[in-house]
Amino acid sequence: MTVTKKIDVKAGKPYSVKIGKGLLDKAGEEAKALGLDGKALIVSDDNVAALYLERVSASLKSAGFEVLSFVIPHGESSKSAENLLAILEFAAENAFSRTDTFFALGGGVVGDLCGFAAAVYMRGTNFVQLPTTLLAAVDSSVGGKTAIDLTAGKNLAGAFYQPKLVLCDTATFDTLPDEEFSNGMAEVIKYGMFCDGGFLDILTESNTDIESMVARCVAIKARVVEADEFDKGERMFLNFGHTIAHAVEALSGYTTPHGSAVAIGMAVITKACVNANECDNHALEVLISLLKKYNLPSECPYGVDEVYNVTLKDKKNAHGMITLVLPTAKGKSILKKCDYNELKEIITLGLK
Ligand code: ADP
Ligand code: ZN
Repeated sequence: MTVTKKIDVKAGKPYSVKIGKGLLDKAGEEAKALGLDGKALIVSDDNVAALYLERVSASLKSAGFEVLSFVIPHGESSKSAENLLAILEFAAENAFSRTDTFFALGGGVVGDLCGFAAAVYMRGTNFVQLPTTLLAAVDSSVGGKTAIDLTAGKNLAGAFYQPKLVLCDTATFDTLPDEEFSNGMAEVIKYGMFCDGGFLDILTESNTDIESMVARCVAIKARVVEADEFDKGERMFLNFGHTIAHAVEALSGYTTPHGSAVAIGMAVITKACVNANECDNHALEVLISLLKKYNLPSECPYGVDEVYNVTLKDKKNAHGMITLVLPTAKGKSILKKCDYNELKEIITLGLK
């Protein structure tokens, strides 16, 4: 039995992230301890529901909740307006009130969709995150960003909405396909790259336990989010590798998984900074060896013009300028506002 780790996030209304094996069985008592009661709506996808819905439901029932569930098909296409409305209608049909609670049981897709539903149902109902992917555990379940996709692009409608609690049962990663685990590792490596060289050493040497690894990422994300709850500045560091990643995802017609795209994005931007003599080569070596270790790609299959043109369409590029996170050494980075010419130069240097 591992010890449960706890990180407090102080953004907006404070909440805790708990990380440990077997926490799904404690969902009921943990929620009750926060004063939550009444009805519980568990939103999950078909894969995750088959594995874990019964356990969470049993835990919530034994804590006195009246439990209902809403299961969506797995995959990004479920982050839709149709599913959002279907969840809201389902909650209303079943007479959910603002004091009841929505539980997101699954990866980022379920968390984003269920979180947005919780944000808008009766202008905000209680929300608990139960992330079951490494990616959701270290990234999307913390920070309060919720969203659905629109036809024009991903995450185009959403809200900042904080959960009451995040319970991360690391034992659920045992059933995660290898590729999904690697995807999460790209975001883990990202944290080390932009601000925590010591963490990169630990990941390189191994054998950190999974709870410590997740906790270290969550602690970094919590710190960044606390400084910038509404995504105006500091949070931009979390976009390390993501500008190029978004281009790679788009160019692949969204067939390249997010984590693989982030891996490529980190490699390209780090290589660019090394080639521009703005970053020491050691940072690049450490990154490339970590990507290899966790079965992640580092070569970009697209050319300078393709990447540049798609990047210009990215929603984060406002008023002709784009803010990039540029590595300067192992575990160190800076934010830099670039104009289109500088952006093209960086992409060119990164793809050399
Ligand atoms: P992410 O968290 O990476 O953003 P998703 O929510 O799409 O992405 O989850 C990725 C895939 O992994 C989905 O097909 C989902 O059903 C599946 N999945 C999520 N958690 C688990 C788990 N613990 N075990 C097995 N499969 C899982
Ligand atoms: Zn990401």
